[in-house]
Amino acid sequence: MRKYLMAGNWKMNKTIPEAVALSQQLCNYYNRDWDKVDVVLCVPAIDIKAVHTVLDFDKTDIELGAQNVHQEPSGAYTGEISIPMIKEAGCTYCIVGHSERREYFAETDETVNLKVKALVINDVNAIVCVGESLNIRDNDRHLEFVTAQVRAALAGLDADDLSKIVIAYEPIWAIGTGRTATPEQAEEVCAAIRATLADAFNADAACGVRVLYGGSMNVGNVESLLSMPNIDGGLIGGASLDANSFKQLIEAAAHASEE
Ligand code: PEP
Repeated sequence: MRKYLMAGNWKMNKTIPEAVALSQQLCNYYNRDWDKVDVVLCVPAIDIKAVHTVLDFDKTDIELGAQNVHQEPSGAYTGEISIPMIKEAGCTYCIVGHSERREYFAETDETVNLKVKALVINDVNAIVCVGESLNIRDNDRHLEFVTAQVRAALAGLDADDLSKIVIAYEPIWAIGTGRTATPEQAEEVCAAIRATLADAFNADAACGVRVLYGGSMNVGNVESLLSMPNIDGGLIGGASLDANSFKQLIEAAAHASEE
């Protein structure tokens, strides 16, 4: 039985005082019901330390993630941050290959793969983002495209490494647009991702991997998306920036886990 994972992606939002306020509000909402779900906040690099201090002080099980990382442990890479840095600052997760990084920062399947391998070696959970453009979907090539992204991202890993992998299916046309994939559209791709994992590794390992949906997840659609057998949570942008709406999504996942 896979535990739901609800991961907030704050993107480039929240100064340090704002990040402290938001994480503190979430800690105030936290209750034992949330233990039915894994909750992660993927915050801007500059906010990591401060948010960690809040989460640590309040002794919740909310975990912390980065939004990107460099694959090398150190060196002359001006402007980058390393895996030892995020780990030391309290991160147990890191998003890799978000479509915004692929589009605006020239990330490729190859760099995504290098980052995923480095995270796994360093025992940090990788939330690997995949998803098709509207053009690819309109040409009915979404399954072929997304499953190829999954294979490329995980090339060179062993079945045992899958315990450190989360896949987030995020159709680009649904990110920040208010246009959500239907539960059936999302389920079709998430099921294909799991079948690809079973084929590339083995069925047992594939069965344990959490496959998230991301793309305008909100209070109105969370229940129907989480009712799908291969959707194990959400990667949530806009709705994670407000404590009350993120709380409602977490509680919807806690409720769904009881069914
Ligand atoms: C995201 O940034 O990963 C995302 C899914 O954003 P939103 O929820 O705002 O569509």
